[in-house]
Amino acid sequence: MSKDKPEIISDIYSYLKFYNDYKNYPVYANEVKQTDTSFDFQENIAGKPDSIIAGEKQVYEKPVYEMKKANEDIVVEKPVSIYSPREDFSHCDSLDKFYEEIKDCRKCSHLAETRNNLVFGYGNPAAEIVVVGEAPGAEEDKQGKPFVGRAGKLLTDILKAIEFDREDVFICNILKCRPPENRNPLPGEIMNCEPYLFKQLELIKPKMILALGTFAGQTLLKSKEPLGKLRGSFHEYNGIKLLVTYHPAALLRNPNWKKPTWEDVKLFRKEFDSMKK
Ligand code: SF4
Repeated sequence: MSKDKPEIISDIYSYLKFYNDYKNYPVYANEVKQTDTSFDFQENIAGKPDSIIAGEKQVYEKPVYEMKKANEDIVVEKPVSIYSPREDFSHCDSLDKFYEEIKDCRKCSHLAETRNNLVFGYGNPAAEIVVVGEAPGAEEDKQGKPFVGRAGKLLTDILKAIEFDREDVFICNILKCRPPENRNPLPGEIMNCEPYLFKQLELIKPKMILALGTFAGQTLLKSKEPLGKLRGSFHEYNGIKLLVTYHPAALLRNPNWKKPTWEDVKLFRKEFDSMKK
């Protein structure tokens, strides 16, 4: 046996231990955050490395193993660097500049290949209210605008019912690109795209946020609670009052959720009015 073998085995052991300890942790820069226990490190490393890129570099780079047999020795190279810095958008001081910055984003290459348009968001750049949905659907992808299909019309009606004009608020989504077949966003895609939403909120500085559906609520609140527990009372996102309610598309599927949604949005309006006093 080669004299190097114990060292090789120790390297493999260390990496397997690392993998086992951190497989559920999305990793940002040099810190480790437990935000999503469903994140599949193995799948994302092995299967979709380009779905988990942050900034211009990958958060995880695919571990490179060079395995060859020479005199029955196996040579294993350790994984290459797996961290990279998060994006820095500090030079973008307006939504327009920020749009120019991300409009050609291809971090989720499978979504970038199938999209017609990146759906950045639409509305008043100085809005007091930001409405956050899940991801563009077919019509949104076609037109490049959020909430323009049937669910969009329902959202306009809901806003009107609580005396908000759609043009006065800003509407956007967690994901800027349409997932094929309108499937749910994947954890890696949310991780790729959420910095864009956070930057939008930083630029707009709304007074209140209305989060529509589970993904919007959980992403903004960094929570794993189901929608039923998140809705019905106010939360805070970076000091901004946030209310979670049902997504209009869900209301089209299940009209029983219209009543609790109505209760939520009335509460939202009441709080908005009391903040203005
Ligand atoms: S979903 Fe977001 S992160 Fe992914 S390609 Fe589209 S804009 Fe980029």
